[in-house]
Amino acid sequence: MSHVFPRHTRARMPVAVRGDGPYIIDSQGRRYLDGSGGAAVSCLGHSDPDVAEAIRRQSSEISFAHTGFFTSAAAESLADRLIAHAPVGLERVYLVSGGSEAVESALKLARQYMIEIGQPGRRRFIARRQSYHGNTLGALATGGNLWRRDPFAPVMTAGHHIAPCYEYRDRLPHESAEEYGLRVADELEAELLRLGPETVIGFIAEPVVGATAGAVPPVPGYFRRIREICDRHGILLILDEVMCGMGRTGTLFACEQEDLRPDILCIAKGLGAGYQPIGAMLCSAEIYAAIEAGSGFFQHGHTYVGHPVACAAADVVLRKLTTGGLAARAARMGERLNAALGARFGAHPHVGDIRGRGMFRALELVADRASKAPFDPGLGLAARVKQAAMERGLICYPNSGTIDGRRGDHVLLAPPFILTDDQLGELVDKLAGALDAALRAAPRATARR
Ligand code: PLP
Repeated sequence: MSHVFPRHTRARMPVAVRGDGPYIIDSQGRRYLDGSGGAAVSCLGHSDPDVAEAIRRQSSEISFAHTGFFTSAAAESLADRLIAHAPVGLERVYLVSGGSEAVESALKLARQYMIEIGQPGRRRFIARRQSYHGNTLGALATGGNLWRRDPFAPVMTAGHHIAPCYEYRDRLPHESAEEYGLRVADELEAELLRLGPETVIGFIAEPVVGATAGAVPPVPGYFRRIREICDRHGILLILDEVMCGMGRTGTLFACEQEDLRPDILCIAKGLGAGYQPIGAMLCSAEIYAAIEAGSGFFQHGHTYVGHPVACAAADVVLRKLTTGGLAARAARMGERLNAALGARFGAHPHVGDIRGRGMFRALELVADRASKAPFDPGLGLAARVKQAAMERGLICYPNSGTIDGRRGDHVLLAPPFILTDDQLGELVDKLAGALDAALRAAPRATARR
């Protein structure tokens, strides 16, 4: 009997024993092509020798020195490298151990900033429905994923949510993409005016929405309007690039493609590429200066922030993504992945939308393409696809609740950037087999509007 508390008490998991490029090998010798990097984590695959060597070297020098007493060369180097490539204006890096910690740090820093500049009445955050910002209570309260929030709502602070930018479902027939983007961006202004702008700290959003809605990119002009509204009301723009950052969309930071300047930006997942648990929050020079000139310290911290071994691993990951050309490779391979998905699923009767950027793509599954009607949530289609894919030696990341937290299904793909053309073909073949098997096994493809 296992003593591990698993994610699901009824699931029987294979035991992962080894990595080989984009494959995970289990204790029975079965190979699984990692088509989703777990949950958009393993951008370098599972056996990168340079990251392994950096971890070994750092562990043999100094593994841990509490950041209340020391800094480390590994943390300094990683922060320098991040800022050298970060959007203009971001100047400081707060290193943590994962995505939820990065978001919690962002929320707390944003609140403390408002106190430091003499605006303590600001106490609210606005986010979007169908967003996910982490599972700790503060991040969960901010996010707009109904299914994840609901059981914990009574012990969380109130969240304020506006519409997502979700063109496939919500753009009206007479609207251009730009008109649609402005309409939904303007919901931020309406919500600010409803709450009282002087009570709001910031707006948080994923530039390309990940797990909850499935690789949903913004329409042109959406984030430009969001930035204008934030500036007009003195609220901070916090970008959550935990899933879509670190080269995933084909540029190191997803917001580069929107020409967007955030005040705070969160990353994790691909930063450690699965080799070490690490995340980071980057903030503007202005925010840092306010803390420096005010109380002099950020009233926050965790024991393992800035862990030298995690930083040494992430520094190599980041070097490979930037000067090593892997983020650019994600852009190139992502176009090929998109073309292969279009060729295979473009006319599939149950694939309503194929979307995403770079090596971050998703298929939205529908019972009926013309009406976009989703499958009955009772079918548990996403779980069926996941299982059928595992049986075929493919890891993908299907999710339910795409539309509103309850209805809709999608399959998220976020493969390692090192994928070859042959492996890309294997991914698409196995996904097609898994999808058809899951649909065949579903009692009846019943639609529900
Ligand atoms: N933010 C986004 C956009 C995410 O996708 C996730 C995780 O999936 C998180 C935050 C939380 O990150 P973690 O699971 O590392 O705490």
